[in-house]
Amino acid sequence: MKHKKASDMAGKICALCCQGHLEAKRGREYFRHGEALIIIEDVPAWVCNKCGERYHHAWVFKRMREIAIHRDQLTEHLRVPVAHYQSGDEAA
Ligand SMILES: [Zn+2]
Repeated sequence: MKHKKASDMAGKICALCCQGHLEAKRGREYFRHGEALIIIEDVPAWVCNKCGERYHHAWVFKRMREIAIHRDQLTEHLRVPVAHYQSGDEAA
């Protein structure tokens, strides 16, 4: 399905920081689907030029979910090291 080019969010104020403006960009998304985490490159998004928050249209989320559901077909994999943060530090 083809969607019309969405220019409706260009230049809008970011809803998170209320200062930055949104720009159309493509980039890497770390998409969680249940237990699975997949990386999707070149995902179209609106990105805040101040805080970096990323916004997606509903159909982009839908497409990412479809990619995640069919992740068995992906041939490219990354090995990611896992660490445990061992310290008494608290968040605040
Ligand atoms: Zn922002």
